[in-house]
Amino acid sequence: MKEKVYVLDASGIFGGFISSKHKNITSSTVISEIKDLKSQLALQSALDHDNIIIKEPDSGALNQVQGAIENSGDILRLSEVDKTVVALAVSLTKTYSPTVVTDDYSIQNILKILEIPYRSVLTEGIREIYGWIKICRGCRKKYPSNYQWEDCEICGAAVYRKRIKK
Ligand SMILES: [Zn+2]
Repeated sequence: MKEKVYVLDASGIFGGFISSKHKNITSSTVISEIKDLKSQLALQSALDHDNIIIKEPDSGALNQVQGAIENSGDILRLSEVDKTVVALAVSLTKTYSPTVVTDDYSIQNILKILEIPYRSVLTEGIREIYGWIKICRGCRKKYPSNYQWEDCEICGAAVYRKRIKK
């Protein structure tokens, strides 16, 4: 049996979906779409801990996705980034059993045609949504994730970020 992995589009990352059980994979084009600071920080931390892996689709998969879009007869509004995410999932089927995490209806539609499983971020994914807090290494005081200093305001020890289940 092939190993299960999640392929994240931007809505997956914005929604805070990072699975702890399975590999999370995304493409560099998705990463470049992430502009808000909160998502960037979560993403950077996930990259630092190897919780997200960056891979690119092969050109055969891109052609296959393009063909499926053209044959669908449907008006699918897929951006280049969307196509990359779908093609990445197609590429990964060779070695993994990928599930795409997306709230984008057009992406879900083309995945249905290509018979690639998907899930939305906010419904089924709810159990795997995480939040962040900061904790002082010295006195263990907890701070909100947007606490902007690197030192604890009580004892001056370093503060680190920790992922928590919401
Ligand atoms: Zn402290």
